Amino acid sequence: MAKKPVIGILGGGQLGRMLQEQAALLGVELLALDEAGSPVRQINQNDKHVTGSFRDPEKIRELAKRCDVLTVEIEHVNTQVLEEIATVGVDVGDGQMKKVPVHPSWETIRLIQDKYLQKEHFKKAGIPIAPQMVVESGDAMLASFQEAGKNFGFPFMLKSRKESYDGRGNFKINGPEDFEGAIQSMGKLSLYAEKFQPFTKELAVMVIRTEDDAGKLRDTYAYPAVETIHEDSICTKVFYPPRQVSAKVGEEARKLASDVIKTVNGRGVFAVEMFVLEDGSLVVNEVAPRPHNSGHYTIEAVPYMSQYRAQLCSILDIIPPSIKLQPRVSSAIMVNILGGAKEDSHDPLVDLTHSLYDDNMDIFLHLYGKSSKPSRKIGHITAISYSPDVNLEQLAAPLIKAADDIRQ
Ligand code: ATP
Ligand code: MG
Ligand code: MG
Repeated sequence: MAKKPVIGILGGGQLGRMLQEQAALLGVELLALDEAGSPVRQINQNDKHVTGSFRDPEKIRELAKRCDVLTVEIEHVNTQVLEEIATVGVDVGDGQMKKVPVHPSWETIRLIQDKYLQKEHFKKAGIPIAPQMVVESGDAMLASFQEAGKNFGFPFMLKSRKESYDGRGNFKINGPEDFEGAIQSMGKLSLYAEKFQPFTKELAVMVIRTEDDAGKLRDTYAYPAVETIHEDSICTKVFYPPRQVSAKVGEEARKLASDVIKTVNGRGVFAVEMFVLEDGSLVVNEVAPRPHNSGHYTIEAVPYMSQYRAQLCSILDIIPPSIKLQPRVSSAIMVNILGGAKEDSHDPLVDLTHSLYDDNMDIFLHLYGKSSKPSRKIGHITAISYSPDVNLEQLAAPLIKAADDIRQ
């Protein structure tokens, strides 16, 4: 096989680190653009990493000079520079310009960065989304809130169009009495309003997208749907298979997610977050153009093609064409380790992963090498069972309780 391309990644957090774990197995060289000591750089001491911010144009160009293809572990990057690098190229001296492909494409990353435009795009493609409207800025903001209340009723969601993650950038408006507080805390941001979705479940589906060298879609491959639990707007747990969700709805979610990802460009893995409504219908919440918290469980549940391996294999265009992505386990539960009030609040949970044992459950601890801050994702635990007769939720209950205790 020809020499594998060197992959440059914007961001060096936990997603990059889990990508690096797979890159090492595949013999792929990964260079990160992030601060020294980042989670990726703790386990990959390549001297060609670029130190700095993934928003800094000069640093992104420097990374591009040193690699053959660029990817991201976070969508909040500078897409102007990525466009320039992919279409015009980066100056490598002597007037030579080197074009470096970006996967997924910079156009897709740009579209996804603006959650309002992202969903308008899906709507045009016939994908079900929650009704939404732009919120005007400045003096007109209050009138927009009133209009949203009239259009959507209460409560409705006020959301930042850009830069949001882990629910930071969301504000639930319960009634006109919340308008003033919303202006105080969100008034300077570019906002949109969204109809509240009284969902019975939240699902997520990871999708692999493959493309030929000309940028033509080859295929999409969806992992099964998982149930995601959000508490205080942050993902805390993931269940495979989803609990109390019919196989039919699960398959519909899988199909819908593939349809969504067919409307964007580039190679890689994508997460499609969805709401299940009372009548079983599905509404797409948002897409992430990268490995995702809801796909961590694939490291152990789909070991032959975890979401991280898939990101690399898709970029390298070596995904087996008829791959099914069927988990090898009967059930899996992922529990996030979130920082608590104290620096060591999560220690009892981590200790439990060393003492809890059951013949019917395997427990895998993943720590990211990050310092603890309240609600910060600093690690996760995946519990799996191969036996269809086992109640994994019951076996993993001590882990779930210990994780919940951190948030008390
Ligand atoms: P992420 O970390 O997933 O990127 P985010 O900051 O982009 O999060 P969203 O995914 O938009 O935020 O929302 C976070 C959570 O808030 C959702 O998973 C859901 O639980 C709740 N939520 C968001 N929008 C709505 C809505 N329209 N109706 C009801 N609940 C919602
Ligand atoms: Mg988001
Ligand atoms: Mg989300």
